[in-house]
Amino acid sequence: MSAKIIDGKAFAATVREKVASHVVRLKADRGITPGLAVVLVGEDPASQVYVRNKGKQTVECGMQSFEHKLPAETPEADLLALIDRLNADPAVHGILVQLPLPGHMNADAVINAIDPAKDVDGFHISNVGLLGTGQKSMVPCTPLGCLMMLRDHLGNLSGLNAVVVGRSNIVGKPMAQLLLGESCTVTIAHSRTRDIEEVCRRADILVAAVGRPQMIKGDWVKPGATVIDVGINRIDAPEKGDGKTRLVGDCDYESCAEVAGAITPVPGGVGPMTIACLLANTVTACCRANGLPEPEGLTA
Ligand code: NDP
Repeated sequence: MSAKIIDGKAFAATVREKVASHVVRLKADRGITPGLAVVLVGEDPASQVYVRNKGKQTVECGMQSFEHKLPAETPEADLLALIDRLNADPAVHGILVQLPLPGHMNADAVINAIDPAKDVDGFHISNVGLLGTGQKSMVPCTPLGCLMMLRDHLGNLSGLNAVVVGRSNIVGKPMAQLLLGESCTVTIAHSRTRDIEEVCRRADILVAAVGRPQMIKGDWVKPGATVIDVGINRIDAPEKGDGKTRLVGDCDYESCAEVAGAITPVPGGVGPMTIACLLANTVTACCRANGLPEPEGLTA
C-alpha cells in the first residue's frame, strides 16, 4: 500500500476544537450560545443513533442541543408547526430534520419549511440555488467535510480534474458544485455513464458517493490521485464469525490504496467529518444571524 491515509477522525477532532473555541469566544464576548435543534420523527434505529451522537457532540462543543422526538404517526401539519416555532426561536440557530421521514410526509415540503438561514443541512431549495450560483449559502455537511479534507491535503484545487461518482442531491451534486467553485474541471458520473472506469482514471480527485460496496477498483484510479470515499456500506464478514458484518466504502480500499496518492478509509474517513461540519454550520449560522464575522476555516 502506498497511499497516504487521510484521517477523517483526527481531522474531525480539529474541526470540533475550532468550533468549541469559537463558541467560547461567542459566549465570553457576546453572551451568545449557539443552539442546534434536531427533530426525529419515528423510531428508525440508525436515525436514533445519529441523533444521539449529534446531540452529544453539540453539547461537548459548548452549544445548546434541543432534541424533539415525535411519534412516527405524527401528522405533517404538527411537524410543520414545530418547525415554525423553531424558526421563530432566537435560541435556535440551526435546525436539522433527520431523514428519512415516515412515508406519509413530504420531505421536500418539510425541508423547505425550515428558515434557510437555519438550514444547517443545506438542503433547502434556497441554499441549493445559492450554492449552484456560487453565492454564500449553508453547505451540505458531507460534501463540506470532503472539501475541507481535500483543501487540507492538496491546498489549491484549481485546474485539477475532479470526478464525482454519484449525483444525489445530498452528496454528489453539491460536491460537484463545491469543486467547481474551487475551479476544478468537474465530471459527474452516475449509473448511466459509459466507460465509467476510463472516466474515473482521468481524475486527479475522485469522489465516490454511490452506495455500492467496493465498486471502484484500483485499476479505475489514476496513479497519485486523491480518493475520497463517501460510501458507507455494511457487508457480511464471515471471517469475523457467524452473522458478523463490517463497514466498507464504495472503493475497494486495498487495491485503490495501492495506486492512489491519498485515500480516506471507511470507517474513519468522511463519516466523522459529517457531524463535525454540522457543528461548524451551526456556529456559522449563529454568527450570520448576529451579524458577526464567520469562523475561519469552517465554511466553504
Ligand atoms: P444515492 O443512492 O442517493 O445516490 C447514489 C448515486 O450513485 C446515484 O446518483 C446513482 O446513479 C449512482 N450509482 C448507483 N449505482 C451506480 C453504478 N453502478 N455506477 C455508477 N453510479 C452509480 O446515495 P447517496 O448519495 O445518498 O449516498 C451515497 C453513499 O454515501 C452511500 O453509501 C451512503 O451511505 C453514503 N453516505 C455517507 C455519508 C457520510 O456521512 N459519510 C452521508 C451520506 C451518504 P443514478 O442517479 O443514475 O441512479
